[in-house]
Amino acid sequence: MISRSVVAAFVTLLAVPLVAVAGSSAAAPGPCGSVSARPWCDRDLSPDKRARLLLKAMTLDEKIGMMAGDDALGPLQTQTNPDAHEGTVQGIARLGVPTVLMAGGGPAGIRQGEGTALPAPISLGATFSRTDAARWGRLVGDEGRRRGNDVILGPALDIMRLPNAGRAYEAYGEDPYLTGELGVPWIKAAQKRGVMAMVKHYPANNQETDRYLMNAVVGTRAMREIYLPPFEKAIRQGDAAAVMCGYNKVNGTPSCANHTFLGKVLRGSWGFDGFVASDWLVGAKNTVASVRGGMDVEMPVGLVYSRDRLNDALRDKRITVKQIDARVRNYLRTLFAHGVFDRRRYADQPQTINVAANNNTARSLAENGITLLKNNGVLPLRGNTSLAVIGSAANEYVSGIGSSQVTPRNPITVLAGLRARAGGAVTYADGSDLGQAAAAARGAQVAVVVVADQREEAADLKCLKLTCGAPDRGDQDALVRAVTAANPNTVVLLQTGGPVLTPWRSQAAAVVEAWYPGERGGTAVARVLYGDAEPGGRLPVTFPVKDVKAAKGGTVRYAEGIQVGYRRYNARKAPVAYPFGHGLTYTTFKYGGIKVKGDKVQVTVTNTGSRVGTAVPQLYLTFPKGAGEPPRQLKGFAKIKLKPGQTRRVTFTLDKRAFSVWKGGWKSPRGCYTVEVGASSRALPLSARLCR
Ligand code: BGC
Repeated sequence: MISRSVVAAFVTLLAVPLVAVAGSSAAAPGPCGSVSARPWCDRDLSPDKRARLLLKAMTLDEKIGMMAGDDALGPLQTQTNPDAHEGTVQGIARLGVPTVLMAGGGPAGIRQGEGTALPAPISLGATFSRTDAARWGRLVGDEGRRRGNDVILGPALDIMRLPNAGRAYEAYGEDPYLTGELGVPWIKAAQKRGVMAMVKHYPANNQETDRYLMNAVVGTRAMREIYLPPFEKAIRQGDAAAVMCGYNKVNGTPSCANHTFLGKVLRGSWGFDGFVASDWLVGAKNTVASVRGGMDVEMPVGLVYSRDRLNDALRDKRITVKQIDARVRNYLRTLFAHGVFDRRRYADQPQTINVAANNNTARSLAENGITLLKNNGVLPLRGNTSLAVIGSAANEYVSGIGSSQVTPRNPITVLAGLRARAGGAVTYADGSDLGQAAAAARGAQVAVVVVADQREEAADLKCLKLTCGAPDRGDQDALVRAVTAANPNTVVLLQTGGPVLTPWRSQAAAVVEAWYPGERGGTAVARVLYGDAEPGGRLPVTFPVKDVKAAKGGTVRYAEGIQVGYRRYNARKAPVAYPFGHGLTYTTFKYGGIKVKGDKVQVTVTNTGSRVGTAVPQLYLTFPKGAGEPPRQLKGFAKIKLKPGQTRRVTFTLDKRAFSVWKGGWKSPRGCYTVEVGASSRALPLSARLCR
């Protein structure tokens, strides 16, 4: 999120000429043109060849202009202005180079005035569903294209290192395998709709405290095993068109000038041939190091890549024209590869969006991410139950704040959703008066107390108590205590962007995590509570019992190495409130018949309850002793729907990487591994040995 004042200050400071093209009044160059006049328009040539031919025709000034965006005002307006884009890179009409428009909000929808506000991406993490990831990416890609965009600024593939991270809600939680597995279908589906995905924030962007200047000191092993794999998968398997480098420094070097990660790893090891763009506000820190380090385009305007600075650096021979060419070639090659030169500019046609279908998808995705943490049988609710709905968060649209915030068209709150679905009486108390809240709870058969935090970009939470998460909502823990004391049939409904402390969980009849459930969240919550839909989610993060320390800025050593999230809790055998992977359903499952054959693991899952239900069998691997790995690492998962009594055989295939650790290169420790399969990282009834 960019604050108006900060951008204004930068703009004044650096006297950047602003080109306000929000509303895409910029000239539309159209399809490429004739091959005889413009040899780069020959579609039979490779994207790289075409980029080289075009570069030859460009003046130095044109090349320099291509290295930065051209609209500082758009990003300030996207929340409300339907004509504003998060990024604009002007084309060159004389050569048929198209103007490229970028859509913000990316991870959770399109931020360009109103759009379909999907749930917070952490809810997608909770779906444990590659199919849902593809539905998500398809919707964002489709809506982005119909709003005239070429690039989507998402998905975010940052690992939740700190449970109190301000942006925890924007990505898929604390596990690299899960994050990568969801990222790939998202990207593929979005790009299939004809837009380019820009994965972010590369390479280790895990906190908001001191986010522009902090230096993340990350060991090579943690980098390779925890922070890089989602990006590696996004490039190698997802073929993501673009990468956004983060604000912070990594191992002493700004991410956007970091040759180790942009050059050696991204392009060298992974073969990335797309383009790298800076994060939006002072992502790029210096001119020469960024040119040499591998940042291709500075967004949203050229500050370190201003004409003056680049020309000065060229004049002083601190950079070369060859280096400039390399940067511009990456950008142009990507545009050729994704067909941008060969098609007409996408028109901004919001009227062609199938709003009803997208709302339905938003609702269904929310249902599939809603996670049932505890249930003593109060859920699903019976139709004629009288309800007391309590808490201000029930009566508001709750979302995270920042660049992923999408302005919903017509949001349905939890209160509205429950009122629409309930068959019995529904009363509401906002919870500001504990006495009134308790009285309301006593007066109904079931109380639903709704509490929320509010995660935001640019600030981490100070702690995991609800009072830190949403200070303006008063003491929500006290509210939950008052309501549970007044009515034993109390459902606590959380709308949070990450883990919170749940000190009252033993008093609650049920605890449900709805995350920020998006614009159809109220309907989704009601359908899940009444059992019209099942709670589809499993935790992509650990809910701890103990609070965490507030993040610090400056030099931040990732001293825990690879022991991130549940890996750390399990290595220490530490108690947790709700473990990674946990989530109940309205039926029960039995796991059995584990069989290991080579690198394939088979198990049998049976629905032993009386309702249709969806199981999420999860496979965790423990390395041989001596490998120096934390136990039980997620290496496989599936999501399968089963009728009552139905049994299915599930096969997990473990690839070479599953058995690898980084020791100066990927090495597979020899010895016996333990494979465990079950319903969460701490409920693993099946176990087998796998010796290699
Ligand atoms: C965020 C990015 C976002 C950009 C433009 C930045 O502040 O860090 O994730 O894409 O704004 O919206």
